[in-house]
Amino acid sequence: TKIGIDAGGTLIKISYLEEETIRYRSFQTQHIGEAASWVNDHFRNPKICLTGGKSQVFAEELDVSTHSVLEFEATTRGITYLADEDGHSLGSHFLFVNIGTGTSMHYVKNGTQERVGGSGIGGGTLMGLAYLTTGMTDYDEIVRLAGIGNRGNVDLKVKDIFEGAVPPISGDLTASNLGKTAFMMQNPPTQQDTLASIIGLIGEVIVTISSQMAAHYNADSIVYVGSSFRDNPIIREIIETYAWMIGKKPVFLQHGDYSGAVGALLAV
Ligand code: ATP
Ligand code: MG
Repeated sequence: TKIGIDAGGTLIKISYLEEETIRYRSFQTQHIGEAASWVNDHFRNPKICLTGGKSQVFAEELDVSTHSVLEFEATTRGITYLADEDGHSLGSHFLFVNIGTGTSMHYVKNGTQERVGGSGIGGGTLMGLAYLTTGMTDYDEIVRLAGIGNRGNVDLKVKDIFEGAVPPISGDLTASNLGKTAFMMQNPPTQQDTLASIIGLIGEVIVTISSQMAAHYNADSIVYVGSSFRDNPIIREIIETYAWMIGKKPVFLQHGDYSGAVGALLAV
């Protein structure tokens, strides 16, 4: 069996071929032994290619020898394959943004990628800020609660500042993420509200940086990948809205969280 594994800072993503169909499976990097046992027990004579920052650590836990590919190359290859599978036409050049534990941005031209930027604001920031503000650590629970929160109780909008007056830009834009402090002191937000605003902060920071990057490189499409989009409609919606606002086409891939793993699988 051919297996491609992307061992990241937070999650280990595994893609493998079963009767010519790609299957997907992931584990917490925290439980790296569990993931390795699953691979060791589940496959006979596997051919494994690894990528991601935890490749080395993961390889040492496996029963068979493996080879590895550079993460940025694997992700580029995986994105190209998955976009094609989803029927997206990316053209000869595009930008991709990988929101993993941290965030990395890449410009791809004629199949060759160049890392053009990044940010420490990413999926790990969501987990960390959620923990600091609510004590919660379960990703699914965090995004579920955020989904019923009201950002209006935490974020300051332009129209909140331009009370009664006509603002020079859309009043619905965020003036200050988490900035409605005076209001919050009188009306403490719920955990749901706080979590929704944390996701808003991350989404807006990343879409702002990546849109400017796309403008700089004159790229029409921005592909957003990484597990931070898993079951997280809030962040998708923010990115979608803002990207279109500045005329860039946001692309989300069905298995975008597995782009590195699929790229590794293609390199087996
Ligand atoms: P990096 O590439 O930066 O080394 P990574 O590859 O592990 O990290 P991803 O798997 O792309 O990163 O994304 C990790 C993020 O996805 C987490 O920080 C969290 O926001 C989100 N996430 C989605 N599902 C889960 C989950 N089951 N457990 C923890 N985090 C999750
Ligand atoms: Mg990663």
